[in-house]
Amino acid sequence: MNYQKILQDVYLEAKSFPQIGNVAQTIPQLSTIDPDKFGIHLTTIKGQDYGIGDSNEKFSIQSVSKALTVALAFSFMGEKIWERVGVEPSGTAFNSLVQLEFEKGIPRNPFINAGALVIADMLVSHLKHPKEDFLAFIRAISGTQEIDFNLKVAQSEKDTGFRNATLANFLKSFGNIENDVATVLDFYFHQCSIEMTCKELAHSFYFFANEGKTMDGNQVLSKSNVKRLNALMQTCGFYDESGEFTYKVGLPGKSGIGGGIAALFPKHFTIVTWSPRLNEKGNSELGMNALELFTTKTGMSVF
Ligand code: GLU
Repeated sequence: MNYQKILQDVYLEAKSFPQIGNVAQTIPQLSTIDPDKFGIHLTTIKGQDYGIGDSNEKFSIQSVSKALTVALAFSFMGEKIWERVGVEPSGTAFNSLVQLEFEKGIPRNPFINAGALVIADMLVSHLKHPKEDFLAFIRAISGTQEIDFNLKVAQSEKDTGFRNATLANFLKSFGNIENDVATVLDFYFHQCSIEMTCKELAHSFYFFANEGKTMDGNQVLSKSNVKRLNALMQTCGFYDESGEFTYKVGLPGKSGIGGGIAALFPKHFTIVTWSPRLNEKGNSELGMNALELFTTKTGMSVF
């Protein structure tokens, strides 16, 4: 398959649609980004790379990081993590509080903010130097040291993250946060502030497509645990638009309000898009359109 040609066709066609949606407004530091950035990168299971547009420019990965924190927590805690966070789609917004009360402080899944905060708490408990160790994990799985937090973005979210602070305190009131709330929030804001290019992100997601093994041959998760996380990304990776994403694109993946989407086809490829204009559900409008075009043109989808 001529992936470079397909990416080019997808890129041009997706760009020809009316460009709707706005850059994320909830984190002031993110609202200044150029809305017309657009990049796509595809990495095949054989390690071949294909990129187009702004695919080598860093952007804020935001909630895409939640797939990587849950992978790390799962690697050392195994099934025990499901005692504190569920595996069901939420059907509510990423930062919703409503279900938590009914479900006694057990978030529906690790990809809504409440669930990601519980996972962050697990990492804070387990890792000796949580922020540094998580960054080292990301650098290792993506095969480059050129990845860092954006401290301005982390600070900007800290200054305005009232909803996340509420969620963390609410979880703590149910006993589902072990550490000091401020420490957990600090970790969470930093994980979200990590900046990566489409290519780096495609490499970091490679192990999800390769039965748990990174591009360097490191077994990060077992084959069966990767299957479980891919299933979770399929059902819960796109906020309350996970059904729509599955319907249109048909790949497991995770989106973030920085405009990134990382998706994969097990045993075939990982694909990452970046376009900062978000639809009303918080997903990148152009990214979703591009991925839909890609799987439709190639027939490469899990369905
Ligand atoms: N840091 C953002 C928040 O917690 C992430 C949201 C997202 O990308 O979904 O609000």
